[in-house]
Amino acid sequence: MSEDETTQPMFGKVALIGLGLIGSSLSHVMRREGLAGCISGSARSEATLARAAELGLADEFSQDPAEAVRDADLVFLNVPVGAMGAVAERIAPALKKGAILTDVGSVKAAVIRDVSPHVPEGVHFIPGHPIAGTEQSGPDAGFPELFEDRWCILTPLEDTDPQALDRLSAFWRACGSNVEIMDPKHHDLVLGITSHLPHLIAYNIVATAADLEEVTESEVIKYSAGGFRDFTRLAASDPTMWRDVFLNNREAVLELLGRFSEDLSALQRAIRWGEGEKLFDLFSRARKIRREIIEAGQDTEAPNFGRK
Ligand code: NAP
Repeated sequence: MSEDETTQPMFGKVALIGLGLIGSSLSHVMRREGLAGCISGSARSEATLARAAELGLADEFSQDPAEAVRDADLVFLNVPVGAMGAVAERIAPALKKGAILTDVGSVKAAVIRDVSPHVPEGVHFIPGHPIAGTEQSGPDAGFPELFEDRWCILTPLEDTDPQALDRLSAFWRACGSNVEIMDPKHHDLVLGITSHLPHLIAYNIVATAADLEEVTESEVIKYSAGGFRDFTRLAASDPTMWRDVFLNNREAVLELLGRFSEDLSALQRAIRWGEGEKLFDLFSRARKIRREIIEAGQDTEAPNFGRK
């Protein structure tokens, strides 16, 4: 490789449509790794655009997403799942031939359903989902290490160009991620159990605690270190994002909720009938899964996640 080639950015112009947690993290890691010659950014509100400009998240900004994608070689849709279709429709006429269009949405089949009809001939649409996030949102929430040692799942379509897929995979690897290729429906089931259902349970338990009449809200907060506060981290996630996830992964979530409710009833029964062995076995299996997550490098082994 010549010296010239080693200093070339991976993509000439990258457009970030949506400058929240994921959009801003993409900007930071692209800057750090020199992955883009130029970054253009777009957000819905003037407030986000102004803050993104202060943070230097892009080289050029526009409230009009079509303006932002003009001449871009790689376009990221970093907006809530329910907004993907409308944004795709708006940018479609301005997309450059040969460009890669991708997204980071937490649901894949619905995004493909909503975006695909708008993708012009000659543009490579490759849906994606970085399995990385926090409960924070907005342009200040991003950081360059967000994707490091996390998986990024790509769900290419039947006619996806293998070269475009290779380029996008290489981009995510340069962001520090491992890349997995998956069928979109399977993605929605896997993420249904590993992400969507846990968030629903968290939202629900926080609501149950808030509605309890016999225990005051101040007691719930005061004694939250007993376990409750771990649920509140998930339940602090962005309400718009999660509303859209559940509306757009309805089938998989309802199927999993059915299974979950059955298992919960079995636990309820075991408690009622004093079946200690059943409880012990189930808790032991669960503890093993936690150990496997740590061994896979997907969490810290520090007690209480390293918190005080
Ligand atoms: P975020 O911090 O709330 O940022 C969302 C961005 O989208 C903002 O720039 C917002 O603009 C823009 N936006 C919101 N509604 C819009 C609409 N109707 N039309 C056009 N733009 C709109 O969200 P995020 O956490 O980065 O999530 C973005 C995507 O990543 C979502 O699809 C989510 O499912 C996915 N994802 C999230 C996580 C996570 O942990 N948060 C992890 C992986 C994937 P304004 O600020 O101007 O309103």
